[in-house]
Amino acid sequence: MIKKYQPLNMVLLLLLSSPLFAGHYTTSSERMVPLALECRMPGMVALTFDDGPSDNYGTVLATLDNHDVTATFFVVGSKLEKQKHIDSALDAIAAGHQIENHSWDHADFFSLSLTEITAQTDRTNQIMWDTLGVTPRFLRPPYGRIDIPTAMPIWDLNIGVALWNLDTRDYELSSQNVLQEINTALNGASPDNDSFIILLHDFSAASVDGLDDIILTIKNRGYTLVSLDECVDSGSH
Ligand SMILES: [Zn+2]
Repeated sequence: MIKKYQPLNMVLLLLLSSPLFAGHYTTSSERMVPLALECRMPGMVALTFDDGPSDNYGTVLATLDNHDVTATFFVVGSKLEKQKHIDSALDAIAAGHQIENHSWDHADFFSLSLTEITAQTDRTNQIMWDTLGVTPRFLRPPYGRIDIPTAMPIWDLNIGVALWNLDTRDYELSSQNVLQEINTALNGASPDNDSFIILLHDFSAASVDGLDDIILTIKNRGYTLVSLDECVDSGSH
C-alpha cells in the first residue's frame, strides 16, 4: 500500500525541493468556516484522527483505502520535525486525505496567552507548508479546550476551529468498547437527520485495529464517510 504511493511521493519530494514552498505559507483559498461541530448535511460522517503523524499511519491508510474512504488527520506541528513523520503525512496526502493543524506541541490553549496561541497556530501552519506544501483550513484545539476569546487568534489567521460531536474515547477504551460508543451514538440518531464528526486517534490500538469494523458499522447504518471539507461544505455551494 505504501509502495503504491511511492511515485507520487517522489513527485511531492521534487516539488518540496523546488522554490514553490519557499517563504511564508499562503492563506487557504477555501471559505473560512469558523466552527466545525457537525456536517452541513445529514447522513455524513467525517472520521478524524488526531495527534499524528504516527507510525500507525500506514495501517490506517491501508484500511481506509480498502474501504475507499477519505479521512482527515489533525497533526501536531512539532512532529513534522522528523522525516519519518513527514513521510507518513505525505503518504496520507498522496492517498487523498485531508491534513489539518492540531497545534505545535499539544498544549492546553486555556493555559496559554493569546500570543502563544497565535504562535502555536502559525508555527504549525508554517511547518505544514514547508514540509507538506499544504495550508491548513482548520485547527483542532488539544483536548477540545477552546472558547471565543481563545479562538480569536486562530480566526485572525483565517483558520477555522474544528471540534467533534462524537468522542469515541479511544484513548481509554478497547476496540469493542469504542465500537459500542459509536453504536450507542448511532442508535440515537438517523442518517436522515444527523451527521457526525468522529474523534479518533491514530496512536490508539483500539481505533487502528478496530477501524475495519468502525467503517463497516457506519456504512451499514446508511451514512456516507466524507472528508472534513466535504462535511462542512456540502450543500453550501
Ligand atoms: Zn490531541
